[in-house]
Parts: sequence; C-alpha cells; structure tokens
Amino acid sequence: MKTLVINCGSSSLKYQLIDMETEESLVQGLVERIGIDGSILTQKVEGKNKYVIEENMPNHKTAIKHVLNALVNKEHNIIESMDEIGAVGHRVVHGGEKYSHSVIIDNEVLESIRDCISLAPLHNPPNIIGIEACRELMPNTPMVAVFDTAFHQTMPKEAYICPLPYELYEKYGIRKYGFHGTSHMYVSQKIAEVMGKDIKDLKIVTCHLGNGCSLAAVKGGKSIDTSMGFTPLAGVMMGTRSGSIDPSVISFLMEQYDYTINDIDEILNKKSGVLGISGVSSDFRDVLAESEKGNKRAKLALDIFHYKVRAQIAAYAGIMGGVDVIVFTAGIGENSAITRKECLRGLEFLGFEIDDERNSIRGKIQEISTDTSKVKVYEIPTNEELMIARDTVKLVSKL
Ligand code: ADP
Repeated sequence: MKTLVINCGSSSLKYQLIDMETEESLVQGLVERIGIDGSILTQKVEGKNKYVIEENMPNHKTAIKHVLNALVNKEHNIIESMDEIGAVGHRVVHGGEKYSHSVIIDNEVLESIRDCISLAPLHNPPNIIGIEACRELMPNTPMVAVFDTAFHQTMPKEAYICPLPYELYEKYGIRKYGFHGTSHMYVSQKIAEVMGKDIKDLKIVTCHLGNGCSLAAVKGGKSIDTSMGFTPLAGVMMGTRSGSIDPSVISFLMEQYDYTINDIDEILNKKSGVLGISGVSSDFRDVLAESEKGNKRAKLALDIFHYKVRAQIAAYAGIMGGVDVIVFTAGIGENSAITRKECLRGLEFLGFEIDDERNSIRGKIQEISTDTSKVKVYEIPTNEELMIARDTVKLVSKL
C-alpha cells in the first residue's frame, strides 16, 4: 500500500509517500509559507531534479491540492493518479489522555483532537486543518492520526503527575504528557532489532536531540518517563527553549519588571536555550563553530546543554535500575560526534566505553561503543514518517 504521511504546521507542511510493501520512501516534499506571500512547494525524488511549485497558497487546502498535483507530476512519475494512495497518516501533536495509540480518523476522533487544542494551541489547530483538507480532497481514502504524546501514555503516575494541587490535574488535565513519542518509539524498536534482542528485555535511554530535545526512559518497550512535560518547553535545554527552570522566575519578572505573560512566553520558548546563552544562534553548527573560535558564551551554552543531557541520562539509568543501551537521534544526536561524547562524559561508570573512530561516523545506524562495552551506545537516524506509515497501514488493513 502506498501511504501518504502528512505533518502539518501552522505555515508549513511536510509530506512523504512511502511504499509500504518495501518501506521505501518514494518522495519527500515540503510546502512553506502557506498563507504568506511567496508560498513554495519543493518535492524531492532520489536521482531526479527537484520539482518546485511557486504559487499563491492562501490556505492548507490549496497547499494539499498542490501536493496531490505534485505527486502525480509526469517528471517525477511516482504515481499516475491519487487513487494509488491507499491511506493517509497524519502526525498529530497532542492526543491528551485519550489516545495511547494511533486511531482511524472519524468525526468523533476529529472532535477529540479539537478538545486537545487548549493543551497544544500552536500545534493541534494546523494538524486539524490538514486532516480536514485531506478528508475533503480524498473523501474515500482512510486516514489515521498518530499522536506525538501516545507513546508516553504508559508512564506511571509518579512520573506524570505534577506535584501541584491534585485538582489541577483533575480539572484541567495538568500533567506530564511528553512529546517526540513517535521518534522515541521508532528508535527504541529499531535498536532492539539492530541488537537482535527482544525489546521486552531492554532498558533503553533514547536521546532525541534536534531543535527540540527530549529524552525518554524506555523499559521493556514502554516509555516510563520522558523529559518534556505538560508542553514541549520542559526538560533539557534546547535550541531556543529554556527547558525546565525554577518557575518563580516567571512571577519575579512579571512583578518586578512588568513583563507580560506573552513576553515570558516569548523569552522561554524563543529567546532562551542555546540561543539565549550563546547570543549566537540556535543552530548547533553555528554555536559549535563559534565555541571553537574561542567564544566563551558559545562554549558556556554547549557546556550547559551537555550537562543537562548528561544529568537526564543518569537519572533515567537510575530509575530503570540500569541501562543496556543509550541511543542518540535527530539533527544533533545523529550528526554531532562532539555532542554525543560530551553528553556521555563522566557517565562511564554506567558501564560503556566509547570508540572515537566509530563516534566520528554520522547520519547512519552506528554503534559508537566498543565491542567489549557492557552498555551499548548507538546513533540511530530517526524516521517518524515511517513509524506513522506503519501505524497507518496496521490500522487500515483491519478495516
Ligand atoms: P527538528 O527538531 O526541527 O526536526 P532536527 O532534528 O533537524 O530539528 O535538528 C536540527 C538541529 O540539528 C540544529 O540545531 C542543527 O544545527 C543540528 N545539526 C544538523 N546537522 C548537524 C551537524 N553536522 N553537527 C551538529 N549539529 C547539527
């Protein structure tokens, strides 16, 4: 079955068409500046020229129409008609407590995703718009919602209940949900396969280090804790997000300096993290380069980042009663040897040994620990789209 995977953001849309007989990605595309002047669709197929559409795309429905046209374009010659798309898998950021698994989308599911808007006001609305647009244009194609939060629904209460008045959980659903679940699930399943082990026998720490960063403790194939929280702002330091800080900083700034809640939101989400400390960039490549040139604040930003990740790895090894394998993934985790090494520095007591030559290889499935290392360390490129497509096919084939 050819499965279309859609990841809809507020002004962008990423898509892939995957042939699920072979799990081969046939085409990848990105639409940018939806609803803004200068909309552009760029579609890539291996070994062929890029296919580009530069046309006004005032809304997601127009963008998806262009995606469907791009998929049947003669230059790329991927599919002849839309009817060849057997199913569509949608990435949905927040499924609240209701969804611990992916689901076939019907009106009721759409309503529940709508109910979660208050929990993810920036993310769920564009996800819903994407689903609605696809349903309108492909009314007979089954669609599946795959939630970023679902994998973490296995966390025990002591991990997900915030130590606030309990009524706030009961009344408003304030608790840890966790995000990047599709990625944590993918890499934990992949590492079990690569090591030839049953995932039920493994204690895994997964480190998803990209623009957003989160770690998860995966025991016996289940997420038992993760570093992001009620929102993707919590946990370790990130590109522009602070990660967890003392919440009193917020009332202090609001009371003493008249900051508004929007100012605070902007500071914590957009101006903090690696960007805020370094003053250079949120992009790790820039900060690494500046640090090498001797920029002290760039170095400090990296030092804090490594420290936070290191502390989180140690904590998760602790709560699982040990660790069998540590996995690095996403932009930084897959590509930066120095970051991997620094995030592990001082944790050798857990029982691993790093092979520097192996660690210098990037962007592919690679063991970076030595053959004799008791605890294994790997880099595994994440593939959230494939995970979404797998769940989609699994559910659609039962229809
Ligand atoms: P997103 O969370 O948006 O999906 P990615 O997983 O693509 O983000 O990760 C983006 C991050 O990966 C950026 O900070 C970027 O600097 C970093 N990155 C990409 N390639 C490298 C590299 N070769 N070395 C260090 N960092 C890298």
